Amino acid sequence: MRDVIVIGGGPAGLAAATALAARGLDVLVLERRELPADKACGEGLLPGGVAALEALGAVRHLDADGWSRLRAIRWIQEDGSAAEARLPSPGGMGIRRLTLSAALVARAREAGAEVRERAAVTSHWRDAAGVAVGLAGGEEIRARVLVGADGLASAVREREGLAGPARALPRFGLRRHFALPPWSDAVEVHFSPGAEAYVTPVGPRRVGVAFLFEEGPAPDFERLLARFPALAARVAGAPFDSALAGAGPLGRDASTRVQDRLVLVGDAGGYVDAITGEGVSLALEEALLLGDLLPDAIVRGATRESLLPWEQAIRARHRRHAAVTRLVLGMARRPGLRRAAVRWLGRAPRLFDALLATAVGGSPRESSASAPVRG
Ligand SMILES: Cc1cc2nc3c(=O)[nH]c(=O)nc-3n(C[C@H](O)[C@H](O)[C@H](O)COP(=O)(O)OP(=O)(O)OC[C@H]3O[C@@H](n4cnc5c(N)ncnc54)[C@H](O)[C@@H]3O)c2cc1C
Repeated sequence: MRDVIVIGGGPAGLAAATALAARGLDVLVLERRELPADKACGEGLLPGGVAALEALGAVRHLDADGWSRLRAIRWIQEDGSAAEARLPSPGGMGIRRLTLSAALVARAREAGAEVRERAAVTSHWRDAAGVAVGLAGGEEIRARVLVGADGLASAVREREGLAGPARALPRFGLRRHFALPPWSDAVEVHFSPGAEAYVTPVGPRRVGVAFLFEEGPAPDFERLLARFPALAARVAGAPFDSALAGAGPLGRDASTRVQDRLVLVGDAGGYVDAITGEGVSLALEEALLLGDLLPDAIVRGATRESLLPWEQAIRARHRRHAAVTRLVLGMARRPGLRRAAVRWLGRAPRLFDALLATAVGGSPRESSASAPVRG
């Protein structure tokens, strides 16, 4: 009988395993793929996520070739008009998913968690004595608590009957990297009607381009890139540095994140949209809080009631995230409104700084020169 089984070795699962193992719990992570694992992602880590990565002790495991400091977010429109906001302290990071995954795996194992790769979970069940998971090979493992961290299409959430209805106007993501020295220390968000392009520096010689769009899951990177001529000109001729990766539909709901002896962490617990680039930050912050609260909940039987303080602790953060994400998404979906709003914010950079600080948490930085993170 383990203390905790974590299904999924993405950022949420590995961070939760680290936070729980560091508290002395016996933790097993089951990940169906080989690690480190790649994923379609914009790869921008906002200040809350940077602080959480530091608190987890994972920053020192990051390979210097796979990440960059991020100073600002820049919104860019079809006509070249732009608005830029500085990220509040401690700044942001652009981190290649493979680099983030490698660092989180190293840190989870260092903290004492067992991380098993190529271990696909096919079933789970809960009873009064604890939880059990079944692996593809037929093996069964028991624990006191199950952490479902199996991502956007979480099978744990489905099996528990906690999934909400499918969203209207589903959105999808598609990303690829170019071997190209970054031209900026800002995350650029290029807008066009029906699609946005996220451009993130992820290392000294690599730029990631992630598209978010509404047209269904048939991915065509070149066609999407052609909708952003200025960006297409920037990356023209640069060799690809990764294979295409896609994701979606993005919006997912869970009616609750806790049940008796069960916690849903990260995307498994629900996801609004990638337009504000906060998914990894939320996952890491949730994991840290779980480390604070789960040991005590286990002493109290890990009942839903004993786990509710964790869900309540993350609720305010999720509400803020959801409100801001829906606001930005609503703006992106109305090109006329978006053009006026971005031009207005471009003329009021201090206001945009303050709005961004309110949206992601933290105070606007006085100087763009302050170093965001150690590393
Ligand atoms: C296009 C796009 C752009 C994005 N941009 C950003 C951004 O810039 N910044 C940001 O912070 N977030 C961004 N996000 C969101 C971010 O990628 C997610 O929020 C984050 O990956 C959530 O982590 P997770 O661990 O919950 O899920 P995942 O990263 O999906 O990890 C889940 C893991 O569970 C494993 N798994 C699933 N089923 C099983 C099973 N049955 N058995 C064993 N293992 C299993 C999977 O293999 C996977 O490794 C973006 C998302 C998309 C789609």
